[in-house]
Order: sequence, then structure tokens, then C-alpha cells
Amino acid sequence: MSHTSSLNTSAFMAELMAKNPAEPEFHQAVHEVVESLDHFLDENPKYKHARILERITEPERVIMFRVPWVNDKGEMRVNRGYRIEMNSAIGPYKGGLRFHPTVNLGILKFLAFEQVFKNSLTTLPMGGGKGGSDFDPKGKSDNEVMRFCQSFMTELYRHIGPNTDVPAGDIGVGGREIGFLYGQYKRIVNEFTGVLTGKGLNWGGSLIRPEATGYGNVYFAQEMLNTLGESFNGKTVLVSGSGNVAQFTVEKVNDLGGKVVTLSDSSGYIYDPDGISPEKLKYVMFLKNNKRGRIKEYADKYGVKYVEGQRPWGEKGDIALPSATQNEINETEAITLVGNGCKCVSEGANMPSTPEAIEIFIDKGILFGPGKAANAGGVAVSGLEMAQNSMRLNWTREEVDKRLQLIMHSIHKTCCQYGTKDNGFINYVDGANIGGFVKVADAMMAQGAV
Ligand code: GLU
Repeated sequence: MSHTSSLNTSAFMAELMAKNPAEPEFHQAVHEVVESLDHFLDENPKYKHARILERITEPERVIMFRVPWVNDKGEMRVNRGYRIEMNSAIGPYKGGLRFHPTVNLGILKFLAFEQVFKNSLTTLPMGGGKGGSDFDPKGKSDNEVMRFCQSFMTELYRHIGPNTDVPAGDIGVGGREIGFLYGQYKRIVNEFTGVLTGKGLNWGGSLIRPEATGYGNVYFAQEMLNTLGESFNGKTVLVSGSGNVAQFTVEKVNDLGGKVVTLSDSSGYIYDPDGISPEKLKYVMFLKNNKRGRIKEYADKYGVKYVEGQRPWGEKGDIALPSATQNEINETEAITLVGNGCKCVSEGANMPSTPEAIEIFIDKGILFGPGKAANAGGVAVSGLEMAQNSMRLNWTREEVDKRLQLIMHSIHKTCCQYGTKDNGFINYVDGANIGGFVKVADAMMAQGAV
């Protein structure tokens, strides 16, 4: 816990940690929010009297279940499945499914908690949820992934629905997995409804949904840069990750005249001083999405530097867009980034910066866009997919992209409204946390003891 914690915050956190032991990521996510809210709650005691903090940190429902499946050798396997239905005050539970060996209850509770605030910021009527499994799709055949997804949905279907809970993708869950999950849901329920988002284009998906998180993060960073009269044009950009978010981040940065010089995966990172051109990006998409290979192969193909076992934050860049996973920028890396002249960090991943790293960014007064604001474009377009499903209509690419840009603009505005300090500095962390909180808290107050 940071030394700046007030007595209020410390007491609240002590109780939360005792009640939710061994969930460090959940503690981290809650701590950041309660610190941002500390002063605001003193000024608005109605939320304290209504015990909103105590309620908003308690999931409405947690579902944990067995996922048995049979591998290609005919052997029985078992994983654990989860769905955290965190908050439905402003709409049906909404949030992705993560399939990764690191998944556990604490990780999914942190993600579900963040999702509540993120979804509130999008301006769309979506509550917050998250789910997934410790299943590792890496190295599994398509048939194994299909059998796993079918088994997972055979339990999950009874808890979700287009007006109840609408899952989507996250790490390890992309178009292939959403297809298998959707097919199984439809067989069991005998209904063609918008129960998942991130669907294929010809069976209910939305244009721009694959691009949305990466594009949205670049739009958000652009809004932040605008406040200083700056833009992406001519800037060197560090991106981590190499999956869906990272790929479309590179595409949009290229469109705006910037140059992305890094990408990574859990084994290491590549550094390409000439920049990842649209043509090289096509190769990355083939490598990751079709071949399901490792980023090292990029270095082999283009003869650039590959650094095993490291993250890209030691390289020089004007802007950093972390797009891999939680806690991927620590204090030392934050100091290096800022020391190397980085002026803007915008989070494409969920909680990629540690609390110590965030403190560095804020102390140094650089532009720092927290994930729950900066990466909200993904779930925002999921909300637009739900809207199109309800109308049984499809919007054009231009229409969805325009709405995405408007939503990112509005999220930025909300952050400024709640996060601008007396000296004019915009603390986007406080802005996103308070802005996301108010709408949900007011809805909970209006709905009584919920
Ligand atoms: N997993 C994404 C997120 O972290 C998207 C969720 C969704 O589209 O529901 O926001």
C-alpha cells in the first residue's frame, strides 16, 4: 500500500484484504480506486452512508465450475472455469473471458472490478463482469480448443443471456474461441441471440470490433497529446504484446504517421528501428493469428534485434502503449522510460503498470492514460455490437469507427472533468476512477439495497 494512503483508505483496505485473502491483483485494483475516491467521498458523504464502496467491491455473484474435456490422445483433462458477475447497476454484466494458465479468482476479480468502471465510462448501458479459465490454448489443436470451449459453455450457458450477461474475448479468447462458444450456446438454448460479442461478421459480429481496443487506445492517446498541442506524427512508439490489441495499435499508429519499433510476447521482444510497416504488420498478423507462432520469428525474418526474456521498456520512445498484460511495467522500467524521454503512456492492456510505475508517471507529470479509460474502446464496440444485434441491423465500418471516436472523446472529457487538478494537471487515473464510479454509484443508490 502506498505511503499516501489516508486512515480511511488503510482501514478499508485492511478489511478488504482480510476478507479476500491471496488476491493481490484484486487488492491492487481496488486500492487504486479507493485512493482516487478518498477526497471525493469526503466531499460527497451520501456514498459513504450508503456503503457504496463496500458493495461495489463485493461481486454480485461468483460462479466457479469444473471443465472436463478430452485431449487428442483420448486422455481426460480438467480445468477450472469462472464467471464473476460483478455489477449490474447500469446494464447486463459485460466483459471478456480469459483463457490463460495464470487465471485464478483474484485475477478475474481485478478484471471484473475494472470492467465496471470502464464500461460505465463508455456511456453505454453495460454492467461489469469477467470470466475465463486456467486452460492454456497454446500448443493445443483446433479440435482440443473446440472440445474445451464446448465443455466450458455447457456449464456457462445457464448463467448468461443477451439481457443478463454478455461475455466476449480477452487474452486467449479470439474469433476462433468465440465461434466455438457461440455454436455450443446456440445448440443448447436453441436461440440465435447476441449472447456473446466479438462474433464473426456474417453471424452477428460488428465491423471494427477486432480493431476497437487498439484503435481506441490510439484515439485516447491522441486526445491526451492534443492537450499539449502534440500528435502521433513523427513519434517513435513502443508497443508491448503482439496479439489483437497490439496489432491494431500498430495499424492505427502507422495511419497517423508514427513509427512503432517494438512488439513482444511472454518470451521476449523485438526491436525494429525502421518501424513495423503495414507490410511487416501483415506478417505479424499471419504469424500470430494463423500460424500461432512466437514474435522471435519476426526477428529471424527481418534480421532485427530480439531480446529474450525482457520487456521493451529499455528502448527509447516518445510514447509507450503497453498492450500485453497486467503488471508489465514496474517502477524501474517506468524510471527508464521517462528518463529516455517518453512523454505519454496509454494502456491498451488491463492494469499493465504497477502502482509504483504509475506514481512515477504522475510525479513526473507525463500523460498517463489508465487502461479502464484508454482501452475501453474494445468493450465500447462490443456495446455497439449488442445494439446492432438488438436492432437486427449492421452499421458500416465508417459508422462504427465514428461512434468509437466519439466515445473515446467522451471518455477523455469525463477524465478531464473529474481529474483536472488546481494547477491544471490532468490526473487521468483519478478522472477515470471518479468518473466511472459516479454513474454506477448513483444507479445503485436509486435502486435501493442492491
Ligand atoms: N476483454 C476486453 C476488455 O478488457 C473486452 C470485453 C468485451 O468486449 O466485453 O475490456
